[in-house]
Amino acid sequence: MAQIYNRVALIGLGLIASSMCHAMRRKGLAGEIVGYARSAETREIAREIGLCDTISESASEAAKDADLVVLCVPVGAMAAVAAEIGPVLKPGATVSDVGSVKRTVIESVGPHIPEGVHFVPAHPLAGTEHSGPRSGFAELFDGRYTILVPAEGSETAAIDRLADLWRGMGALIEQMDAEHHDLVLAVTSHTPHLIAYTMVGVADDLRRVTDSEVIKYSAAGFRDFTRIAASDPVMWRDVFLNNKEATLEILGRFTEELFALQRAIRQGDGDHLHDYFTRTRSIRRGIIEAGQDTDAPDFGRTKASKP
Ligand code: NAP
Repeated sequence: MAQIYNRVALIGLGLIASSMCHAMRRKGLAGEIVGYARSAETREIAREIGLCDTISESASEAAKDADLVVLCVPVGAMAAVAAEIGPVLKPGATVSDVGSVKRTVIESVGPHIPEGVHFVPAHPLAGTEHSGPRSGFAELFDGRYTILVPAEGSETAAIDRLADLWRGMGALIEQMDAEHHDLVLAVTSHTPHLIAYTMVGVADDLRRVTDSEVIKYSAAGFRDFTRIAASDPVMWRDVFLNNKEATLEILGRFTEELFALQRAIRQGDGDHLHDYFTRTRSIRRGIIEAGQDTDAPDFGRTKASKP
Protein backbone atom coordinates (compact mmCIF):
# COMPACT_ATOMS: atom_id res chain seq x y z
CA MET A 1 0.00 0.00 0.00
CA ALA A 2 1.25 3.50 -0.78
CA GLN A 3 2.53 5.96 1.80
CA ILE A 4 -0.31 8.19 3.04
CA TYR A 5 1.55 10.71 5.24
CA ASN A 6 5.17 11.74 5.02
CA ARG A 7 5.75 12.41 8.72
CA VAL A 8 3.44 11.10 11.48
CA ALA A 9 3.88 12.19 15.12
CA LEU A 10 2.41 10.08 17.92
CA ILE A 11 2.08 11.86 21.27
CA GLY A 12 1.83 9.24 24.03
CA LEU A 13 3.34 5.80 23.41
CA GLY A 14 0.97 3.29 25.02
CA LEU A 15 -1.12 0.42 23.67
CA ILE A 16 -2.86 2.38 20.91
CA ALA A 17 0.15 4.39 19.69
CA SER A 18 2.45 1.36 19.68
CA SER A 19 -0.17 -0.66 17.78
CA MET A 20 -0.45 2.21 15.26
CA CYS A 21 3.34 2.13 14.80
CA HIS A 22 3.31 -1.58 14.03
CA ALA A 23 0.22 -1.32 11.81
CA MET A 24 1.61 1.64 9.82
CA ARG A 25 4.93 -0.11 9.33
CA ARG A 26 3.24 -3.32 8.21
CA LYS A 27 1.96 -1.50 5.11
CA GLY A 28 4.48 1.37 4.77
CA LEU A 29 1.77 3.98 5.40
CA ALA A 30 4.10 6.63 6.87
CA GLY A 31 7.42 7.92 5.54
CA GLU A 32 8.65 8.60 9.07
CA ILE A 33 7.12 7.98 12.52
CA VAL A 34 8.14 10.27 15.36
CA GLY A 35 7.08 9.50 18.92
CA TYR A 36 6.99 11.27 22.25
CA ALA A 37 5.99 10.05 25.73
CA ARG A 38 5.87 12.03 28.95
CA SER A 39 8.19 9.83 31.02
CA ALA A 40 11.86 9.21 30.30
CA GLU A 41 11.24 5.55 31.10
CA THR A 42 8.65 5.10 28.34
CA ARG A 43 10.84 7.00 25.85
CA GLU A 44 13.74 4.72 26.75
CA ILE A 45 11.65 1.55 26.26
CA ALA A 46 10.38 2.90 22.92
CA ARG A 47 13.99 3.49 21.77
CA GLU A 48 15.08 0.08 23.01
CA ILE A 49 12.36 -1.79 21.06
CA GLY A 50 12.72 0.45 17.99
CA LEU A 51 9.08 1.52 18.14
CA CYS A 52 9.39 4.70 16.04
CA ASP A 53 12.02 6.09 13.68
CA THR A 54 12.74 8.90 16.16
CA ILE A 55 11.81 9.50 19.80
CA SER A 56 11.63 13.21 20.65
CA GLU A 57 12.30 14.83 24.00
CA SER A 58 9.21 17.07 23.82
CA ALA A 59 5.74 16.95 22.30
CA SER A 60 6.35 20.14 20.31
CA GLU A 61 9.61 18.80 18.86
CA ALA A 62 7.71 15.67 17.71
CA ALA A 63 4.77 17.66 16.27
CA LYS A 64 6.87 20.23 14.43
CA ASP A 65 6.95 19.49 10.67
CA ALA A 66 4.52 16.54 11.08
CA ASP A 67 1.81 16.06 8.44
CA LEU A 68 -0.30 14.15 10.94
CA VAL A 69 -0.18 14.45 14.73
CA VAL A 70 -2.17 11.88 16.73
CA LEU A 71 -2.82 12.48 20.44
CA CYS A 72 -2.64 9.06 22.13
CA VAL A 73 -2.79 10.12 25.79
CA PRO A 74 -5.65 9.75 28.31
CA VAL A 75 -8.66 11.94 27.50
CA GLY A 76 -8.03 14.25 30.48
CA ALA A 77 -4.47 15.00 29.27
CA MET A 78 -5.37 15.93 25.66
CA ALA A 79 -6.00 19.67 26.17
CA ALA A 80 -2.63 20.31 27.84
CA VAL A 81 -0.80 18.46 25.06
CA ALA A 82 -2.76 20.37 22.40
CA ALA A 83 -1.89 23.70 24.09
CA GLU A 84 1.79 22.77 23.95
CA ILE A 85 1.90 21.69 20.29
CA GLY A 86 -0.60 24.22 18.89
CA PRO A 87 1.97 26.98 18.19
CA VAL A 88 4.37 24.71 16.23
CA LEU A 89 1.86 22.93 13.98
CA LYS A 90 2.56 23.14 10.26
CA PRO A 91 -0.11 24.82 8.06
CA GLY A 92 -2.05 22.10 6.21
CA ALA A 93 -1.23 19.46 8.84
CA THR A 94 -3.93 17.30 10.44
CA VAL A 95 -4.37 16.78 14.18
CA SER A 96 -6.29 13.72 15.33
CA ASP A 97 -6.66 11.73 18.55
CA VAL A 98 -7.71 8.24 19.62
CA GLY A 99 -9.62 9.18 22.79
CA SER A 100 -12.51 7.00 23.95
CA VAL A 101 -14.76 10.05 24.48
CA LYS A 102 -15.31 12.63 21.76
CA ARG A 103 -17.41 15.64 22.82
CA THR A 104 -15.13 16.89 25.60
CA VAL A 105 -12.03 16.19 23.49
CA ILE A 106 -13.43 18.31 20.67
CA GLU A 107 -14.37 21.08 23.14
CA SER A 108 -11.03 21.10 24.97
CA VAL A 109 -8.58 20.43 22.11
CA GLY A 110 -10.36 22.39 19.34
CA PRO A 111 -9.50 25.88 20.65
CA HIS A 112 -5.75 25.04 20.52
CA ILE A 113 -5.78 24.05 16.84
CA PRO A 114 -4.62 27.03 14.75
CA GLU A 115 -6.26 28.27 11.56
CA GLY A 116 -5.09 26.27 8.55
CA VAL A 117 -4.63 23.03 10.52
CA HIS A 118 -7.30 20.30 10.14
CA PHE A 119 -8.79 18.69 13.23
CA VAL A 120 -10.26 15.20 12.70
CA PRO A 121 -10.89 13.37 16.00
CA ALA A 122 -11.12 9.57 15.83
CA HIS A 123 -11.71 6.55 18.05
CA PRO A 124 -10.51 3.04 17.18
CA LEU A 125 -12.90 0.53 18.76
CA ALA A 126 -10.13 -1.87 19.58
CA GLY A 127 -8.12 -2.46 22.71
CA THR A 128 -6.95 -4.84 25.35
CA GLU A 129 -6.51 -4.57 29.13
CA HIS A 130 -2.74 -4.07 28.62
CA SER A 131 -0.96 -0.71 28.50
CA GLY A 132 2.38 0.78 27.60
CA PRO A 133 4.74 0.77 24.61
CA ARG A 134 5.39 -2.98 24.72
CA SER A 135 1.70 -3.92 24.59
CA GLY A 136 0.98 -2.92 20.97
CA PHE A 137 0.61 -5.28 18.02
CA ALA A 138 0.00 -4.71 14.30
CA GLU A 139 -3.27 -6.67 14.10
CA LEU A 140 -5.11 -4.77 16.86
CA PHE A 141 -7.27 -2.76 14.41
CA ASP A 142 -7.88 -5.49 11.83
CA GLY A 143 -11.61 -5.78 11.08
CA ARG A 144 -12.52 -3.42 13.96
CA TYR A 145 -14.29 -0.09 13.47
CA THR A 146 -12.59 3.28 13.78
CA ILE A 147 -15.13 6.06 14.19
CA LEU A 148 -14.21 9.43 12.72
CA VAL A 149 -15.84 12.43 14.39
CA PRO A 150 -14.73 15.40 12.27
CA ALA A 151 -14.84 18.77 13.99
CA GLU A 152 -17.01 21.46 12.40
CA GLY A 153 -15.42 22.79 9.22
CA SER A 154 -12.98 19.86 8.73
CA GLU A 155 -12.09 19.58 5.05
CA THR A 156 -13.28 16.46 3.23
CA ALA A 157 -9.81 15.81 1.79
CA ALA A 158 -8.28 15.75 5.31
CA ILE A 159 -11.02 13.41 6.57
CA ASP A 160 -10.60 11.08 3.57
CA ARG A 161 -6.84 10.96 4.02
CA LEU A 162 -7.13 9.99 7.70
CA ALA A 163 -9.77 7.38 6.77
CA ASP A 164 -7.30 5.93 4.24
CA LEU A 165 -4.66 5.66 6.97
CA TRP A 166 -7.02 3.77 9.29
CA ARG A 167 -8.17 1.51 6.44
CA GLY A 168 -4.50 0.83 5.71
CA MET A 169 -4.07 -0.15 9.37
CA GLY A 170 -6.85 -2.73 8.89
CA ALA A 171 -9.84 -0.81 10.29
CA LEU A 172 -13.39 -0.39 9.01
CA ILE A 173 -14.51 3.24 8.96
CA GLU A 174 -17.67 4.94 10.23
CA GLN A 175 -18.39 8.61 10.72
CA MET A 176 -20.77 10.09 13.33
CA ASP A 177 -21.24 13.16 15.48
CA ALA A 178 -19.71 13.43 18.94
CA GLU A 179 -22.96 13.18 20.97
CA HIS A 180 -24.03 10.03 19.15
CA HIS A 181 -20.56 8.51 19.51
CA ASP A 182 -20.52 9.13 23.27
CA LEU A 183 -23.98 7.62 23.77
CA VAL A 184 -23.22 4.50 21.68
CA LEU A 185 -19.92 3.98 23.51
CA ALA A 186 -21.59 4.47 26.89
CA VAL A 187 -23.73 1.41 26.02
CA THR A 188 -21.13 -0.77 24.35
CA SER A 189 -18.00 0.02 26.34
CA HIS A 190 -18.12 2.54 29.18
CA THR A 191 -21.00 1.19 31.29
CA PRO A 192 -19.92 -2.46 30.83
CA HIS A 193 -16.49 -1.47 32.17
CA LEU A 194 -18.08 0.24 35.17
CA ILE A 195 -20.19 -2.85 35.88
CA ALA A 196 -17.07 -5.07 35.63
CA TYR A 197 -15.17 -2.79 38.02
CA THR A 198 -18.12 -3.00 40.44
CA MET A 199 -18.49 -6.78 40.25
CA VAL A 200 -14.79 -7.33 40.89
CA GLY A 201 -14.94 -4.81 43.75
CA VAL A 202 -17.88 -6.71 45.30
CA ALA A 203 -15.98 -10.00 44.96
CA ASP A 204 -12.93 -8.44 46.54
CA ASP A 205 -15.00 -7.34 49.54
CA LEU A 206 -16.41 -10.87 49.78
CA ARG A 207 -12.94 -12.38 49.59
CA ARG A 208 -12.47 -11.61 53.24
CA VAL A 209 -15.58 -13.67 53.98
CA THR A 210 -14.88 -16.52 51.56
CA ASP A 211 -11.17 -16.77 52.33
CA SER A 212 -9.64 -16.60 48.80
CA GLU A 213 -12.26 -18.91 47.28
CA VAL A 214 -13.22 -16.15 44.85
CA ILE A 215 -9.83 -16.43 43.18
CA LYS A 216 -9.36 -20.18 43.59
CA TYR A 217 -12.73 -21.10 42.08
CA SER A 218 -13.04 -18.20 39.65
CA ALA A 219 -15.39 -19.30 36.86
CA ALA A 220 -15.53 -17.97 33.31
CA GLY A 221 -18.06 -15.21 34.07
CA PHE A 222 -16.00 -13.72 36.88
CA ARG A 223 -12.72 -14.18 35.01
CA ASP A 224 -14.06 -12.16 32.08
CA PHE A 225 -15.08 -9.38 34.48
CA THR A 226 -11.59 -9.36 36.03
CA ARG A 227 -9.98 -9.04 32.59
CA ILE A 228 -12.04 -5.94 31.81
CA ALA A 229 -11.51 -4.57 35.33
CA ALA A 230 -7.73 -4.83 34.86
CA SER A 231 -7.83 -1.97 32.33
CA ASP A 232 -5.77 1.15 32.96
CA PRO A 233 -7.21 3.16 35.92
CA VAL A 234 -6.18 6.60 34.58
CA MET A 235 -7.69 6.00 31.15
CA TRP A 236 -10.97 4.79 32.65
CA ARG A 237 -11.15 7.49 35.32
CA ASP A 238 -10.92 10.03 32.48
CA VAL A 239 -13.55 8.23 30.38
CA PHE A 240 -16.16 8.48 33.15
CA LEU A 241 -15.28 12.06 34.07
CA ASN A 242 -15.64 13.03 30.40
CA ASN A 243 -18.70 10.99 29.41
CA LYS A 244 -20.75 11.77 32.48
CA GLU A 245 -24.21 12.36 31.01
CA ALA A 246 -24.36 9.38 28.64
CA THR A 247 -22.92 7.00 31.23
CA LEU A 248 -25.40 8.15 33.89
CA GLU A 249 -28.27 7.78 31.40
CA ILE A 250 -27.28 4.18 30.58
CA LEU A 251 -26.61 3.35 34.24
CA GLY A 252 -30.14 4.54 35.07
CA ARG A 253 -31.59 2.17 32.48
CA PHE A 254 -29.31 -0.62 33.68
CA THR A 255 -30.52 -0.19 37.26
CA GLU A 256 -34.18 -0.37 36.16
CA GLU A 257 -33.55 -3.61 34.26
CA LEU A 258 -31.61 -5.05 37.20
CA PHE A 259 -34.54 -4.31 39.54
CA ALA A 260 -36.92 -6.04 37.10
CA LEU A 261 -34.71 -9.15 37.04
CA GLN A 262 -34.39 -9.01 40.83
CA ARG A 263 -38.19 -8.97 41.11
CA ALA A 264 -38.51 -11.88 38.66
CA ILE A 265 -36.10 -13.95 40.75
CA ARG A 266 -37.90 -13.08 44.00
CA GLN A 267 -41.31 -13.93 42.48
CA GLY A 268 -40.04 -17.10 40.79
CA ASP A 269 -41.00 -15.68 37.36
CA GLY A 270 -39.07 -18.15 35.20
CA ASP A 271 -40.82 -16.99 31.99
CA HIS A 272 -39.48 -13.46 32.45
CA LEU A 273 -35.93 -14.72 33.03
CA HIS A 274 -36.10 -17.15 30.09
CA ASP A 275 -37.46 -14.53 27.67
CA TYR A 276 -34.85 -12.02 28.79
CA PHE A 277 -31.93 -14.44 28.40
CA THR A 278 -33.22 -15.57 24.98
CA ARG A 279 -33.21 -11.97 23.77
CA THR A 280 -29.67 -11.31 25.06
CA ARG A 281 -28.36 -14.53 23.51
CA SER A 282 -29.47 -13.33 20.08
CA ILE A 283 -27.42 -10.14 20.55
CA ARG A 284 -24.31 -12.31 21.08
CA ARG A 285 -25.12 -14.15 17.82
CA GLY A 286 -25.44 -10.81 16.01
CA ILE A 287 -21.97 -9.73 17.17
CA ILE A 288 -20.43 -12.99 15.92
CA GLU A 289 -22.27 -12.71 12.59
CA ALA A 290 -20.93 -9.15 12.22
CA GLY A 291 -17.40 -10.55 12.59
CA GLN A 292 -16.74 -8.57 15.79
CA ASP A 293 -16.01 -11.65 17.95
CA THR A 294 -15.48 -15.39 17.62
CA ASP A 295 -17.81 -18.16 18.78
CA ALA A 296 -14.90 -20.36 19.85
CA PRO A 297 -15.25 -21.57 23.46
CA ASP A 298 -13.85 -19.08 25.97
CA PHE A 299 -14.13 -16.34 23.31
CA GLY A 300 -11.32 -17.94 21.30
CA ARG A 301 -8.76 -17.31 24.02
CA THR A 302 -6.52 -20.13 25.10
CA LYS A 303 -4.81 -20.29 28.46
CA ALA A 304 -1.50 -19.24 26.93
CA SER A 305 -2.74 -16.64 24.44
CA LYS A 306 -1.44 -13.11 24.84
CA PRO A 307 -1.91 -10.10 22.57
P1 NAP B 1 -1.62 3.64 27.69
O1 NAP B 1 -1.13 2.37 27.14
O2 NAP B 1 -1.89 3.72 29.17
O3 NAP B 1 -0.61 4.84 27.31
C1 NAP B 1 -0.89 6.17 27.64
C2 NAP B 1 0.22 7.10 27.16
O4 NAP B 1 -0.16 8.42 27.54
C3 NAP B 1 1.57 6.81 27.82
O5 NAP B 1 2.59 7.03 26.89
C4 NAP B 1 1.63 7.86 28.95
O6 NAP B 1 2.93 8.33 29.19
C5 NAP B 1 0.86 9.01 28.35
N1 NAP B 1 0.27 9.85 29.39
C6 NAP B 1 -0.47 9.45 30.47
N2 NAP B 1 -0.87 10.51 31.19
C7 NAP B 1 -0.34 11.61 30.57
C8 NAP B 1 -0.38 12.99 30.86
N3 NAP B 1 -1.06 13.47 31.92
N4 NAP B 1 0.26 13.83 30.01
C9 NAP B 1 0.94 13.36 28.94
N5 NAP B 1 1.01 12.05 28.62
C10 NAP B 1 0.37 11.19 29.43
O7 NAP B 1 -2.96 4.15 27.00
P2 NAP B 1 -3.74 3.64 25.69
O8 NAP B 1 -4.52 2.43 26.06
O9 NAP B 1 -2.84 3.61 24.52
O10 NAP B 1 -4.82 4.83 25.56
C11 NAP B 1 -4.50 6.04 24.93
C12 NAP B 1 -5.78 6.71 24.47
O11 NAP B 1 -6.48 5.80 23.62
C13 NAP B 1 -6.73 7.10 25.59
O12 NAP B 1 -7.28 8.36 25.32
C14 NAP B 1 -7.83 6.05 25.52
O13 NAP B 1 -9.08 6.58 25.91
C15 NAP B 1 -7.81 5.67 24.05
N6 NAP B 1 -8.25 4.30 23.73
C16 NAP B 1 -7.83 3.26 24.50
C17 NAP B 1 -8.26 1.97 24.19
C18 NAP B 1 -7.84 0.79 25.04
O14 NAP B 1 -8.53 -0.22 25.06
N7 NAP B 1 -6.73 0.86 25.75
C19 NAP B 1 -9.08 1.75 23.06
C20 NAP B 1 -9.42 2.85 22.25
C21 NAP B 1 -9.01 4.12 22.60
P3 NAP B 1 3.97 7.56 30.11
O15 NAP B 1 4.14 6.20 29.55
O16 NAP B 1 5.20 8.36 29.98
O17 NAP B 1 3.36 7.55 31.47
